[in-house]
Amino acid sequence: MNSIGIYIHWPFCEKKCPYCDFNSYVKQNINPDEWVNSYCKAIDYYKNYIIKRPIETIFFGGGTPSLAPVYVIEKIINKLYKEYVIHPNIEITLEANPSSTESAKMKDLKRAGINRISLGIQSIRNNNLIFLGRKHNVNDAYHALDIIANNYDNYSFDLIYGLPEQSLDDWKLDLETMLPLAKYHISLYQLVIEPGTQFHKMWLNNIIKMPDENQLADFYNLTNEITIKNEFRHYEISNYCKIDKESKHNLRYWRYQDYLGIGPGAHSRFYNYTKISDCININDINNNIISKNDINNNIISKNDINNKNTDFSTRIATIDHKNPEKWLQSVKKYDHGINDIEYIDCDIAKKEEIIMKMRLLNEGIEINKCSISDSVLKELKDLDLIKIQKKYNIYDKNYGKKDKKNNLCTKLNFNKKENKNVINVNNKISNKIIASNSIKGNINNKILKIDSMHDNEINDDIFYIMVTDRGSAVLDFVIEKLIK
Ligand code: SF4
Repeated sequence: MNSIGIYIHWPFCEKKCPYCDFNSYVKQNINPDEWVNSYCKAIDYYKNYIIKRPIETIFFGGGTPSLAPVYVIEKIINKLYKEYVIHPNIEITLEANPSSTESAKMKDLKRAGINRISLGIQSIRNNNLIFLGRKHNVNDAYHALDIIANNYDNYSFDLIYGLPEQSLDDWKLDLETMLPLAKYHISLYQLVIEPGTQFHKMWLNNIIKMPDENQLADFYNLTNEITIKNEFRHYEISNYCKIDKESKHNLRYWRYQDYLGIGPGAHSRFYNYTKISDCININDINNNIISKNDINNNIISKNDINNKNTDFSTRIATIDHKNPEKWLQSVKKYDHGINDIEYIDCDIAKKEEIIMKMRLLNEGIEINKCSISDSVLKELKDLDLIKIQKKYNIYDKNYGKKDKKNNLCTKLNFNKKENKNVINVNNKISNKIIASNSIKGNINNKILKIDSMHDNEINDDIFYIMVTDRGSAVLDFVIEKLIK
């Protein structure tokens, strides 16, 4: 059955950073018991919606969830394990800042069930950290990273670039220093001036001056060049990883898959499969993943199961109350924190899907899923902003290294003949590859790897629209054209 991800929003921070437009608040006297009870109640509320869909990812974001007492995180994880089906390879991520109190909790958080940390380092220069209004300094950042690396196999950290007065040389040095410390994954964000933030006011009043578009393009290109040299793959506009080490939870957003968001301001997108069998595989019944009781109780009817072509599903979008107090009151009164619920029609869903999927540089969107005119596709293709190809990406063992002519090896694009060879290497598959497998093969003495395609089956006949490197630098323009 289709899996689902859970996002838990902890809305509190020690201090509001001047660039931040997240739903975060600085508040004293938080009552952790009241919060944990409310999260658990809201988790119960969704039981009927997601029946027995396995939870594949849990993500604690915020705000700063590492400031919450460990028992709050632990109780929420235990509640989800108790009430839902849990995917055997579940990824449970928690966002953290590098303060000493948060670093001291890392071992206990691991015991509580967290298996991935996303650390907000942002810069390895104290002057930048002061400018960004961060509470930590560079020593705190290295200390936190050291503790995390000693306790977690899977972790990531964030750095921000495109700061006023930042030089390309400084950024190059920072990246070269930090990439060797990023084991599998790193997020590299451009500083964006968001309306409503303190930086926005300062920018309007000319107190801060941001780099222009050309300078930002130089930062972006340099970032991509150095990450490739360090064998990191650029898989999403701001995210880079070693093969197979994408953030599983964030991939759910970008692949437009289902997730439930719980907590102040959290969003959800999911298909309501209650009384619906569109997603149900008959093997699930044979393998007892779906119980006969469900069928007898008409949660799933036999007709639904037989009628595979019937689309009973409804895509639902929810948003919880933004204000923490209102969210708590809503949960107390109605058992959920939802402020707005919307049933998304097909057209909107298609547009949302394009917006999200085009962020994935190696995946894009199936061409037959969007009714984009040939002339728009041609225009974008002629401008070298998109490419249209099969989804497979085969990586050479020399990925990230330079050849004799000093050219950087990036990736080998899909080639049907090679692909058939790869498929033959693995006996388990015939003409399709089940997503979550990464397949290694030894063909013509070259070690090749097929990019993993988690949760999707790959069809040999489908072409995908993908953004090119050039297009990724002007993604908003590309998307605007595609969804018009
Ligand atoms: S710590 Fe993170 S969430 Fe909190 S204000 Fe700063 S940037 Fe925003």
